[in-house]
Amino acid sequence: MKYFYPQLHTLHNPSIDLSDGLPGYKHLEVATRVSLVLKGALSAYDTEVVSVDASECEAVREIHDDDYVDFLVAISKEIEEGGEYVPPLFRQNLKKSPLFFQGGMYCSEIGTPIGEGSITAAFNSAQTALDAAKYLCEEQKNAFAFTRPPGHHAGVRRYGGYCFFNNAYLAANYCVKRGKKVTVIDIDYHIGDGSLEFATKDMPYFSLHADVHRNYPYLDATFSNENEFVTLKAFQSGISGEEYVQEVVSLVNDAVNRSVDVVLLSLGFDTLETDYTQDEYIYVKPENFRVLGELFGALEQEVLILLEGGYDAEYLELCSQNFVSGFVKRKGL
Ligand SMILES: [Zn+2]
Repeated sequence: MKYFYPQLHTLHNPSIDLSDGLPGYKHLEVATRVSLVLKGALSAYDTEVVSVDASECEAVREIHDDDYVDFLVAISKEIEEGGEYVPPLFRQNLKKSPLFFQGGMYCSEIGTPIGEGSITAAFNSAQTALDAAKYLCEEQKNAFAFTRPPGHHAGVRRYGGYCFFNNAYLAANYCVKRGKKVTVIDIDYHIGDGSLEFATKDMPYFSLHADVHRNYPYLDATFSNENEFVTLKAFQSGISGEEYVQEVVSLVNDAVNRSVDVVLLSLGFDTLETDYTQDEYIYVKPENFRVLGELFGALEQEVLILLEGGYDAEYLELCSQNFVSGFVKRKGL
């Protein structure tokens, strides 16, 4: 197993999170998240860290719409040093409006500001996922991509939830093009509302998450899943860590069968009981991540782990250490 590190992720440095409105609070999606998760992983399993320095990633256009990618690149060029962009209004179609307003047709909410280096960091994160997928396909070995910004809230033509490009589905798309049979499993606290847009027969999506109406992304009350290649399971609020683990076991049983070659795991550490992003608390403890690591480590398939959420800086290192130590133990690494 190798680790893949997005060297340019620190270019994305959002200041204020307006998710709860004014006056906003210090943004949770900070660069130290990656260093903590990496440190924890290395302390559990010391291996090569491949540093990815690409500042562009054309392959994002294979799954995201061109006009969406073009907008992100164009608006980045308009942002001055230290400045940040949040759309001033939200409409379905703003193609005839000045560039400054067009973000309103690609953005889902106001908690994901774009800074001068944000999109470069997002390209770098996407390429990190792809380099990890390439390694997995060529070497038939497991990989952990420390993708930041994360990706599972990014849709075909929509950003938000701290995500710009869908790293997991870029990796899935890469693997499928190389003849692999893949499955995408998402155990972030939140539903990957972006990821489910990409699910197909070749790239099915399985997610266990908090209630989608009472937690981010606060989906429309009429939301219902009509894609047969999307499997959504919501956990009850207030469940214990052990109960949560059993729910993950059930999800994995549904998602993985013998015909699958590669498991793409969207891993969020925001299921931890102390994570600030939970609207309805669950009681997953740091040691539960060791059991989750063992669960995925026991799979006969290669696993590409991609970092999604996880915001409690005090425990990120420990959770990562626990997950990786459980994973490598069962993989026999
Ligand atoms: Zn999350």
